[in-house]
Amino acid sequence: MILEIRSLTFSFGDAPLLNDLSLTVDRGEIVCLLGPNGSGKSTLLDCTLGFHRSFSGSVTLCGKNVLSCSRAELARQAAYVPQSHTPAFPYTVREVVLMGRTAQGGLFGAPGKADYEHCDAALERVGLASFAERPYTSLSGGELKLVLLARALAQQTPLIVLDEPTSSLDFKNELMFLDTLADLAKNDGLAVLMATHALNHPFYFESKGLPVRAVMLRKGQSARCGTPGALLTAQTLLEVYGVRAAILDVADEAGTPAKTIAVLGSEQRM
Ligand code: ADP
Ligand code: MG
Repeated sequence: MILEIRSLTFSFGDAPLLNDLSLTVDRGEIVCLLGPNGSGKSTLLDCTLGFHRSFSGSVTLCGKNVLSCSRAELARQAAYVPQSHTPAFPYTVREVVLMGRTAQGGLFGAPGKADYEHCDAALERVGLASFAERPYTSLSGGELKLVLLARALAQQTPLIVLDEPTSSLDFKNELMFLDTLADLAKNDGLAVLMATHALNHPFYFESKGLPVRAVMLRKGQSARCGTPGALLTAQTLLEVYGVRAAILDVADEAGTPAKTIAVLGSEQRM
């Protein structure tokens, strides 16, 4: 098991936030972390990465308790794609991706040939090979997110943790980003833990034949966990979001079945 969270409980001060939460992420598996604003998605990611350390329960990464891992050890197990990243300096795209190599703890002086090769391979993987010399500050939102994904890939970790990576992306770029993640999970065996507001994401990954689970957080309450179909029901969406929705069975051009959420309205209008 790549990531194993057991009975994690965490609060800021007195208010309980994460309550007795357990989840696992295996090789090649995608786990989508869902829940309303403020339900604790980012906080859970921070606990997973050892940024928050005052939780009870345990977080184990590749068999080792995160609280007893050094920063360098953690950086070898889990890479992080943050929600936003504002560069203060117009680094080139290659330089930004190279920062993933620094996180690995392998760089003590000038980056070596192997480091550059890993960076170029990561850029190639996200389809941005031709962007290597471009200033990072000149990229669009979608390209920027892909560069952050390449930076995480250059870290060569078994787990990648992403915080709402597609929230600022347009329709097409969102899909490209999801397809890249799906490909990494399927073909490279990457374990993916991703916080997202888009409730259709778990259904999309499922329609691509990936092992995917969804976790629904509710502030201070027990999380619910399950396959997309079992978790994302009209009943759950009404209870958690106060939104009336229908879960529709659709199919792509090849007849591959998929599900999608159609929003009908808010609870107040019933
Ligand atoms: P989400 O990512 O699901 O939107 P967060 O994990 O960012 O939720 O936040 C969960 C709750 O914890 C929110 O109510 C937020 O205000 C609170 N919170 C987040 N960070 C801190 C902090 N450093 N100190 C106190 N409260 C915090
Ligand atoms: Mg958040």
